[in-house]
This record gives sequence, structure tokens and C-alpha cells, in this order.
Amino acid sequence: MPAESRSLNRRHAVYAGSFDPLSLGHLDVIRRGVSLFDRVTVAIGINPAKSPLFSHQERLSIIREVVAPLPRVEVACFEGLAVNFLRSIGAGVMLRGLRTLTDIESEFTMTLANHALDSEIETVFLMASEGYSHISSSLIKQVALLGQEGQEESLAKFVPPAVIVALRNKLRSRPSVPASPA
Ligand code: ADP
Repeated sequence: MPAESRSLNRRHAVYAGSFDPLSLGHLDVIRRGVSLFDRVTVAIGINPAKSPLFSHQERLSIIREVVAPLPRVEVACFEGLAVNFLRSIGAGVMLRGLRTLTDIESEFTMTLANHALDSEIETVFLMASEGYSHISSSLIKQVALLGQEGQEESLAKFVPPAVIVALRNKLRSRPSVPASPA
């Protein structure tokens, strides 16, 4: 066994993603992850090539607020490869969620790449729960951006209350987009 593998903890899972913003589907994976592992780290990937709606600091504080009642969950940001982040904190499991067949294809490729980069890290997939499989961060952003004021009821089907507040504040502070001619 390579010396470096001794420090990895297979009871510590990292759930890495963009979480821009965190959805009820993400939260469901976190909750189920906690029931399977001793410790779950929600890791927000900082990708300089993307322009997220929420900065990583904003995502960090929103997710911390949402997971505060959950035991054994922590939240962090990371730059660079997820496998390097796992290794740096000694976590042995990458936790991912799967919604659709399209997810399977990209997740499969990513898992193979991660395995090639660090074969000691195991990836564990949780299938999205029935009620959450259609929820994505891009759908949430679309509903929030294109929906009308007072449509928070619809957003509540997709995100926790803290995210509704954050979306409302974010959209209020953005310059409004002029309606295009019919
Ligand atoms: P990424 O940019 O890494 O895809 P996301 O924040 O979109 O980051 O997703 C992080 C992880 O959560 C991925 O494994 C994704 O498949 C999973 N996921 C996203 N939405 C859901 C959902 N509604 N139910 C279950 N898993 C989900």
C-alpha cells in the first residue's frame, strides 16, 4: 500500500460542486451523505473560467447557514483539482449526485479521470431522490431571473429559504435587463 494512502479516511466524504446556488437536491444528497459517512465536507469549487451568479464567499456563507443544523457537515472552498483537495484534507471518498442519463455520462468520465489522478480516492454516487431529479442550479437561476416578483412560492420547490433570500437580494442589486421588443 503506498504510504500516502494511509492518511485517507474512507469515512470522510467530500461533496464537491459549484452549488451556484445550493438546491434542495444538493441538500438531499448532503443529508443522505451524513447518514452514510462520519463526516461530510461540502466543497465549493472555485473555477476562474466560470462567472457564477454568487461569489464563492457568498456561496460559502449561504451553505454554512443552510447546513448549520446538520451534525458532522462542514463547508469549504477549494481551487484546482478536487482530488488534490480531498488529499489535502485526508478525505477518501468523493460524493456525487446523479440525476439523469446525461449526468451519468459526464460523471463517469470525471470519475475515470479522478481515478487516474488518484486511485486511492473512491467515488460514491447517490441517485437523486424522485422529487429532486429535475432540479438544477441553472433551472433555479432561470426561474429567479425570468420569473416575476412574488414568485418565491415556485422557488421554494427548488431551494431552501436562505437561498430564496440570497437570490432576492442578488437580483435586486443587479441592473435590470431591458425587455426585448416583441
Ligand atoms: P458541478 O459543477 O460539479 O456539476 P453542481 O453544483 O451542479 O456542480 O453539482 C454538484 C453535484 O451534485 C453533481 O454530482 C451533480 O450531479 C449533483 N446534483 C446536482 N443537482 C442535483 C439534484 N437535484 N439531485 C441530486 N444530485 C444533484
